[in-house]
Amino acid sequence: MAAAVALESAGFEVDLFEAHNRLGGRAGSLPLPERDHWIDRGQHILLGCCRNLLDFYRRLGVEHRIRFHDEIVFVEPGGRRSVLRAVNQSALGRATAFLRLRFLSLKDKLGIVRALAAVRRDYRQPDLLDAMSMADWLRQRRQTARANQRFWRPLIVSALNEEPERVSALHGVQVLWLALLASPDGVRLGVPAVPLVELYAENHWRRFPKLALHTGTRVERVQIEQERVIGIEADGVIHRADAYVLAVPVKAAQSLVPQLGLESLESSPITGIYLAFDRPVLDLPQAALLDRTIQWAFSKGRGEAVQIVVSASRSLLPVSREEIVCQTVRELAEFFPAAAKARLEEAHVIKEANATFTPRPGLASRRPPATTRFPNLFLAGDWTRTGWPATMEGAVRSGYLAAEAATAALGNPRKFLIPDPSP
Ligand SMILES: Cc1cc2nc3c(=O)[nH]c(=O)nc-3n(C[C@H](O)[C@H](O)[C@H](O)COP(=O)(O)OP(=O)(O)OC[C@H]3O[C@@H](n4cnc5c(N)ncnc54)[C@H](O)[C@@H]3O)c2cc1C
Repeated sequence: MAAAVALESAGFEVDLFEAHNRLGGRAGSLPLPERDHWIDRGQHILLGCCRNLLDFYRRLGVEHRIRFHDEIVFVEPGGRRSVLRAVNQSALGRATAFLRLRFLSLKDKLGIVRALAAVRRDYRQPDLLDAMSMADWLRQRRQTARANQRFWRPLIVSALNEEPERVSALHGVQVLWLALLASPDGVRLGVPAVPLVELYAENHWRRFPKLALHTGTRVERVQIEQERVIGIEADGVIHRADAYVLAVPVKAAQSLVPQLGLESLESSPITGIYLAFDRPVLDLPQAALLDRTIQWAFSKGRGEAVQIVVSASRSLLPVSREEIVCQTVRELAEFFPAAAKARLEEAHVIKEANATFTPRPGLASRRPPATTRFPNLFLAGDWTRTGWPATMEGAVRSGYLAAEAATAALGNPRKFLIPDPSP
């Protein structure tokens, strides 16, 4: 979507083929026909530092559908709360905002200050960082067990959908730099105020006169002759263009063009649990939940419906949906006692087994760039070499990079990517 919008703005006629009959891909919604409403494939959030994603929303005219929150509330089992005020004008204020968190001791906090003080310097050496895991980096910074359990793991698992032991320190430190340190609003939490399906609804696309949407149209074949793409086949029709952007998951890209020799990537699951009660149970717009399986709760409606998120949810994959619902309600009541008295009226569990790829140490330089060995074929997707982990921001960056590469190949080079603040 980002590649299409960027190329259209550069004056090209663009055809966008999407296999599903709705746009959004993994950041989309599923219909619940019997209830006449939509459920997102997972609660999707963004941060203020997602500059390209916000630029894409502006181009689409939907930026006002994102509600930003300047505070993150942490809740412990038993209900004690701590507030992290996310927006702070001074760098020192941002680096020390967490000192108010009540669930950490002074020793934990001093260790965190020490680690944050090393971020800017370390982030200038990306190759060194990409050679180690985030857990190694934290060990080198001598973090306490409680800081690891209650601060670092929740932060890394929420941002990267993976355990600190399994992710490159490059992306862990990147999160710290971009979200916590580089700018005053980096950690503002953006939550779509509408189901994702509405964010990408076809009516928003009317503002792009040269862009034709073909939803419900799967590309079945990419025709290559003499080292160039000469057409794609969809619904039995061959479509021809000057340049082609393949913006599908890596497995699909590899099966459409095996000559690309793309490496398959390890992935990590996310489980979303949607619960609707007969009365409000959540008195906060959202909350980070400590020390239990469930990690985040987002209020839907007036707090009577709740979207729960469990990232890196390997332990839940073999568990039955009924058991997951029981465990979630039980845990939710430990944080929000109103849930113990409310009657559960609706529950859905969505297990996304391959939600995002795992940014393992050493992977950064192996991710493929937007250009390929075929001069008129370009790659996009969160898995390409965007410099970001698997996120909506990473996906938009990949689209902009593919559009830049395509415009350069077509003799009219354009820039679309908004660079991150450098350390
Ligand atoms: C449960 C869950 C929660 C997440 N939470 C967050 C979050 O909070 N914040 C965040 O930033 N990111 C989050 N992500 C990650 C984010 O959704 C992805 O990184 C992003 O959507 C990837 O976009 P993409 O365009 O690279 O790939 P996809 O979204 O997978 O899009 C690829 C598209 O290609 C289409 N396609 C495939 N084959 C063909 C074909 N042959 N012809 C035509 N079309 C085809 C697919 O239908 C799909 O629409 C989450 C992901 C999941 C699964």
